[in-house]
Amino acid sequence: MSVQHSHRDDFPALRRKIDGEGISYLDNAATTLKPDSVIRAVTEYYETNGANIHRGKHRLSEEASDSYEASRVLIANHLGASANEVVLTRNTTEALNLVAQGLDLDPDAYVVGCMDAHHSQMLPWRRAGRLALTRVDADGRLDREHFRELLRGRPKVVALTHCSNVTGVVHPVAELIAEIRSATDAVVVLDAAQSLPHQRINVRELDVDFLAFSMHKMLGPTGVGVLFGRSRLLAGLRPLAVGGGMVDWVDLDGSVDRRTPYVFEAGTPAIASVIGSGAAVRYLEALDPGALHRHERDLAAALVGGALTSPGVRLVGPAELTDRIGLVSLRLDVGVPTGDVARMLSDSYGYMVRSGHMCSQPLVTGLAGGEILRVSAYLYNEVAEITGFYEALNELLSCIGPAAPVGARR
Ligand code: PMP
Repeated sequence: MSVQHSHRDDFPALRRKIDGEGISYLDNAATTLKPDSVIRAVTEYYETNGANIHRGKHRLSEEASDSYEASRVLIANHLGASANEVVLTRNTTEALNLVAQGLDLDPDAYVVGCMDAHHSQMLPWRRAGRLALTRVDADGRLDREHFRELLRGRPKVVALTHCSNVTGVVHPVAELIAEIRSATDAVVVLDAAQSLPHQRINVRELDVDFLAFSMHKMLGPTGVGVLFGRSRLLAGLRPLAVGGGMVDWVDLDGSVDRRTPYVFEAGTPAIASVIGSGAAVRYLEALDPGALHRHERDLAAALVGGALTSPGVRLVGPAELTDRIGLVSLRLDVGVPTGDVARMLSDSYGYMVRSGHMCSQPLVTGLAGGEILRVSAYLYNEVAEITGFYEALNELLSCIGPAAPVGARR
């Protein structure tokens, strides 16, 4: 049985109809849909418990704390980390801000990043230090020579993106990290928001210092991000927020911080969503990795193939199928804004796809010259949906017609 048929039924949102017609959800890089087991875990917490964690000694609070901590352990095991190295944040953005602010760098500290960084990786480092970005080629692959050159400046931090949310390119981060380790003693921070939903990562084997991702992009509820940090480095990190839940003792003269990871989790967290995140990890771990990989290859082949054969469409990113996820970005030669095309694809055909700069504006401007349409698949999508998407897009583009040549006057 193929992956798509065995699992589609687990996702109730896929049964959604708009104006009596089925829909196709192809905006998975923004966030994924949730399986029944995740929705049930969230609902069950509210129906049977609903208490706060880590504060009370009463039965409900202890139960809620246990379920919350069980999710942390599941996430830690998934990464090959210890539970005390897993900080639960609101999202990847908060996790990256926590590292960038928490390292307390000198404002002049030299940081190396990459041109394809999401704004959530680029802006925190630009605020924290002096950021230099590694160039990419016309397909969005890193310029390895330029990367080496930047490393020669002995950065304090190297902030890598594992997989671009614009091109779908998965960078050879193991090789990059080996190069960083041999050239510098920089702290290595990896944005795994788009890679971890598609592949297992063992933080020890990869030898990263910090790794950030969002549970909502891998079947979990919104409101939960994860920051893995090597214990030694977490111990020196300054918390982003201070307040209740992160201290052991407070008197009029000062306070005593709790140990990691709790010192980074001030305030009441997204308890239900964290519990649901544990269910998401369980769901993903029960899938056959080989079948998933083959299915993703088929989806990627359909996505790239459609882009290469559709008139008025330019693929932004490489045409090769190796080292990429099931995501393509398209630059359209069409007489209306790309956002209008996305709206028409949704309202007239039922295809939910993304338009704009994808929170990676410097990269999108550099590679595409303007807004793009992004189509991103996940394990419950089918090749037939991709084929249908391109049929709809081709029909729409042929109705609207190409953009007027620059300088053309009516
Ligand atoms: N990094 C990458 C590569 C992403 O794709 C995203 C989400 N689009 C983020 C960071 C930010 O994730 P979040 O919005 O969950 O903070």
